[in-house]
Amino acid sequence: MTVARTWICKGCWQHMRMPIPIRGPLALPFRLFGIRISQMNPNLCTVCETMFTRVKKKKQVVIPATVLFADLRGYTRLSERIGEAEAAEMLDCFYDACCSAVWEGEGIVNKFIGDAVLAVFNFPILREDHVRQAVLAGMEIQRKCREQKALWFAGANGVDEPVGIGVGIHTGQASIGEVGTAYKDFTIIGPVVNTASRLQAIAGPGEIVVTEDVYRHASDLAPAAEQRSLDLRGIDDSVNAYVLRP
Ligand SMILES: [Zn+2]
Repeated sequence: MTVARTWICKGCWQHMRMPIPIRGPLALPFRLFGIRISQMNPNLCTVCETMFTRVKKKKQVVIPATVLFADLRGYTRLSERIGEAEAAEMLDCFYDACCSAVWEGEGIVNKFIGDAVLAVFNFPILREDHVRQAVLAGMEIQRKCREQKALWFAGANGVDEPVGIGVGIHTGQASIGEVGTAYKDFTIIGPVVNTASRLQAIAGPGEIVVTEDVYRHASDLAPAAEQRSLDLRGIDDSVNAYVLRP
């Protein structure tokens, strides 16, 4: 499914009631001023990030958000065995799968970090059901990857590496905005991000590991999820987590 494309930037409209055209002839004059479609989400414009922080007169805003990390397991090892072109193609497929799944839930793909993806839900596009949308995106990423894997390995003789995607999701209050002065970067920071990242690190190929706060909003999507108490590096208390195997 492709995400419905909007004529105006959804973020600018929701937060500032400003209709910024991003498609069609009305978008042309804006493009002259450098306002383009954001790479993080096709229904946002490139000035959203910095504009919010300027409007709010703060470099960082604290908002309820859901953070999703997805990582292509076994990629490094596999890329040494297959050709460079195939490895790049595999990464392309993974990135594309992540983007379409995240955009479907109106989230942003904030960063690509090597063979991992950081996505944020509920900012700048506000969604009451952002937690659920993140879980749905995680499930869609896993589904697309399974489909793709069958294609990748259909003709590969004897290559049977445990390639798969590990996903971690957590939700809560997080700080979003610009960090750095010399090199400015728009990103999300806080314990929510760290926990989501740790959950992703322990997720096996094909697994989505979420906190109890996340599972509460999506238990009907995966009623057979396995409950686990986890001690995560850098986090004092053990975390009550759920492992989803869609
Ligand atoms: Zn915008």
